[in-house]
Amino acid sequence: MKEGITMPVLSINRHRMKTDGVGVTTLVASYGCPLRCKYCINAGILKPEKLKLCKNMTPEELYDVLKIDDLYFQATGGGITFGGGESLIHSDFIARFREICRDKWNITLETSLNVPKENLLTVLPAVNDFIVDIKDMNPEIYEAYTGRSNDRVLENLSILIKEKSPEHIRIRVPKIPNHNGEEDLKKSVALLEKMGFTNIQVFPYVIREN
Ligand code: SF4
Repeated sequence: MKEGITMPVLSINRHRMKTDGVGVTTLVASYGCPLRCKYCINAGILKPEKLKLCKNMTPEELYDVLKIDDLYFQATGGGITFGGGESLIHSDFIARFREICRDKWNITLETSLNVPKENLLTVLPAVNDFIVDIKDMNPEIYEAYTGRSNDRVLENLSILIKEKSPEHIRIRVPKIPNHNGEEDLKKSVALLEKMGFTNIQVFPYVIREN
């Protein structure tokens, strides 16, 4: 495990129910994302000036802040959801956080999986549940929307379905205005089902002003 790990924490939202994990959860949003989605829900995450609003925390410091809800987490089977930005660019931090909270809390990751596979492998033993936003499985649609290739996403999806049982992986497939249609959505879902995923959520993407 690396020493001196910190994560730029953008926000901490407590007492969430049924939105991003089982039981009562606290959502920890971090700075940074490798994608450039045209309708980014959180464009601040892409702007360096927003980094100034972040608090750089060690896993120990974050644990000290979050433990106030320990009883809620333990009573409901809840815990921490790491979101972003892209939570998986902070994989060493999350692995260390698991060591500190031990197995008391459920840990959920919200991720696009567009990271080197080593990042995913680092957190696999530490994370209970994954919520994966795949955008679209079609490489051309994906690149037109995010500005990046989805090669890493496909590789990481294959690793994830081998290592975790499907009930611990929720795949989100957004219908993105001006980018994918009903047929594209059906193709994405069919490919995901063929890979073995069972919890697939198709939803209309709502463009929000930032
Ligand atoms: S993955 Fe999320 S945070 Fe990153 S650019 Fe896309 S919408 Fe924004």
